[in-house]
Amino acid sequence: MPRDLIVLPGEGIGPEVIRQALRVIDWFGARRGLDLTVREEAYGVAAYRRHGGIVADAVRADLVSADAVLFGATGGPAFEEIPPEVRRAGSLLAIRREMGVFANLRPIVGYAELADASALKPEVMAGVDLVVVRELNGGLYFGEPRGIADLPDGGRRGLNTLTYATWEIERIARAAFTLARGRAGRLCSVDKSNVLETGRLWRDVVSRIGAEAYPDVRLSHILVDNCAMQLAREPGQFDVLLADNMFGDILSDIGGAVSGSLGMLPSASLAAPDADGHRAALYEPVHGSAPDIAGKGIANPLGAILSVGLMLRHSLGREEDAALLERAVRRALAGGARTPDIRAPNRPALSTEGMGDAVIAALAETASG
Ligand code: NAD
Repeated sequence: MPRDLIVLPGEGIGPEVIRQALRVIDWFGARRGLDLTVREEAYGVAAYRRHGGIVADAVRADLVSADAVLFGATGGPAFEEIPPEVRRAGSLLAIRREMGVFANLRPIVGYAELADASALKPEVMAGVDLVVVRELNGGLYFGEPRGIADLPDGGRRGLNTLTYATWEIERIARAAFTLARGRAGRLCSVDKSNVLETGRLWRDVVSRIGAEAYPDVRLSHILVDNCAMQLAREPGQFDVLLADNMFGDILSDIGGAVSGSLGMLPSASLAAPDADGHRAALYEPVHGSAPDIAGKGIANPLGAILSVGLMLRHSLGREEDAALLERAVRRALAGGARTPDIRAPNRPALSTEGMGDAVIAALAETASG
């Protein structure tokens, strides 16, 4: 049975990087027997003009039942023409919630091959291999009440609500503990329990889940401000980092500095399996639509390509192919393939397409030993 993939390239550099990711999927179809039905759909301004929503209702309904969804990027100046309520209704946040993808995995790798592109010293970044597990369906980005109200003094007041219930913390904690168990067995949970009540609850619940069900995983806790500092100072100390929606969003971008560029980072967002064992899943590079470089053909497609690797691993049960793709990306980097964001000093940089070519060539070489 072919598996089905819905592709939403989105805005800005989204379509540019997704084009290269699709070439990689085609390669696995032609060379490794990957049987995938790919359905590409509009998301963003094009869909709004055609359907009056950021994504057509018919497509939206299928995102949950598809085997996987591959997303490019959203946002940027083009979105200005879309009314705010339409934008909110079809936003990536709303879709992540509708799909129930609460566990956002953001691997951060320090590639020795990219030591010259990292802001960190080679001995600090090389060998880093950690995953940020970010809670994606709750917290400050969804809490109610929210809004901006006019005040009698003529000013305005912005309001957002940070709220987490026990069950929300439990399910993301279990996802993070399970992941850590399959890796180096270390989980560090991030919170702001010295100031926030949600942080205190977060710490209590994570500790309890660890003691009850994962005594073999070494659990530690860290305050988010210290965590930001430690990620810049010594990222190699971490195996799995667990964080709420906003802290995970911010901390994982530091991974861009470790890996050399935001364009290097992939992500997987996973729901809980349903009664039939089906699990909704959304794969996307961590970066946004990058309006400053959109249309120039210079965006780094590796975050999108490595997101295909995560899809092979987490949704398609093809661990060997996922590992092959990750080795091929390393091989391409070792061979000097660089887009401008990770450019080596005094070396020419490749276009987005050129990086796609380099990965395809490296895949063929890696597969043949
Ligand atoms: P961004 O991630 O789009 O870009 C930040 C910086 O990183 C820019 O200088 C950009 O050129 C660079 N960059 C990002 N991806 C790159 C790549 N693949 N190759 C080379 N360089 C890359 O973040 P931003 O500029 O803060 O936001 C732009 C828009 O994207 C906003 O509308 C924001 O809301 C949206 N956004 C969307 C997502 C998403 O779709 N998941 C994530 C973050 C931001």
